[in-house]
Amino acid sequence: MYFQDRYLTDEQRMMRDTTRRFVNHVVIPFIEQNRLREWEMDPLARLDANILEQADAAGLRGLGVPGHYGGIELDPGTQSQTLAVIATEIARGESGLADKLVQNWKISVLIGQFAPPHLQEYWFHRYLSEPQFLMAHCLTEPRGASDRWLPYNVPEVNMDTRAVLDGDVWIINGAKQFISNGYDASLYVVYANTDDAVGMQHGTSSFLVPRDTPGLRVTRCNETMGGRYMNNGEIVFDDVRVPADHLLVLGDALAQAGVYFRPGKVLVAAKSLGIGIAAYEETVKFVHARVQGGRPLIKHQAVASRLADMATRLEAVAALLRHAALAVDERSPEADVLCNMVKVFASHEIVAVCRNAMELHGGYGAMLEVGIEKYMRDALINLHSDGTTDVSNFKIVRAMFPDTAGVYAGSP
Ligand SMILES: Cc1cc2nc3c(=O)[nH]c(=O)nc-3n(C[C@H](O)[C@H](O)[C@H](O)COP(=O)(O)OP(=O)(O)OC[C@H]3O[C@@H](n4cnc5c(N)ncnc54)[C@H](O)[C@@H]3O)c2cc1C
Repeated sequence: MYFQDRYLTDEQRMMRDTTRRFVNHVVIPFIEQNRLREWEMDPLARLDANILEQADAAGLRGLGVPGHYGGIELDPGTQSQTLAVIATEIARGESGLADKLVQNWKISVLIGQFAPPHLQEYWFHRYLSEPQFLMAHCLTEPRGASDRWLPYNVPEVNMDTRAVLDGDVWIINGAKQFISNGYDASLYVVYANTDDAVGMQHGTSSFLVPRDTPGLRVTRCNETMGGRYMNNGEIVFDDVRVPADHLLVLGDALAQAGVYFRPGKVLVAAKSLGIGIAAYEETVKFVHARVQGGRPLIKHQAVASRLADMATRLEAVAALLRHAALAVDERSPEADVLCNMVKVFASHEIVAVCRNAMELHGGYGAMLEVGIEKYMRDALINLHSDGTTDVSNFKIVRAMFPDTAGVYAGSP
């Protein structure tokens, strides 16, 4: 990739290279030697524990944790760009692993911004001393996520999960579904309605909920088509009681969560890009090695055309990704629009890249033992992540044309 290298700072280049060594020496060999392990029906038997330990040793778990708690402090002026470079690199090796780590980074940022110091000290200490420790961000409920992502700001679509203050304890009741790391997280950030009378923008609060709190039950691990090394789960909250200091944000938790909603979309795009680069790199090797019609595939014009198409899409995604991440780091007013644009653009372009990879691999593209079909499955998972394509497009138009755009929700 030409684009990516050109703009890296020394810090980013160093972190990219460290991540690349981890991916090349630990992650890719694990995947190549364990092609079918993602299909293990015990979710905890899929990813070798060693992988998160090695990620920890490479410094990839402390990102987002403030330096004075032992984390890796990134330059705030380039933080989203740096995280995007690192997430791309991890997803080049395994996108579910990238997802596991990205959730941790995002929630670390949130805890660092909103949790009281004694809880930061306790949780960051535990997080950094337990390599298998995961965190999860619980927004989606059985009733659906799109209204919440838009957001459709009327009381009728408030979170069904409710939190009520009883003395100095919050009591939480409800259910969350489709949650990344939801099956095996040790700590959850939970969004709940705390005021029925107002719309979700002012009536939604966020809470820290430790996994071992009585009444919290992880009810299942969802079997997904891709990203299978990240365990997606469902959680029920039945009179879950947390101390008052576990409240992170009262009322406008959704607006405050912008501190990671925006970088979150950049990181979905980065994960897509990593998958696309891996699919492209494998295809480059294949079209040089495979001979048909008396010559390597790359000598055939149609093959060359598809290869150029793949490379061009990757460069375009990388360019928009950097542009959007830069806007986030600069806190530019365009950041919202660009984050949604790159999330949508990357997810669609990378599906197209993976489709070409499958075409160029012929029958091998469909074989589980070869791994090309895995890129396609992993890429498809990102289409709806952090908001579906349509909902993200509504957000783009609403931000660009605030006076004339529609609400894009509710009765006609
Ligand atoms: C692998 C995976 C990981 C996930 N991780 C997390 C996580 O960590 N935390 C979390 O909280 N959630 C997570 N989710 C949930 C994800 O964000 C939602 O699935 C996604 O936002 C779509 O919401 P939904 O499934 O409820 O679909 P719905 O909201 O029911 O949407 C269904 C369809 O209707 C369309 N639609 C909805 N509203 C409108 C409208 N007003 N106008 C036109 N069309 C509309 C949508 O675009 C979509 O095509 C995850 C999901 C998956 C599969």
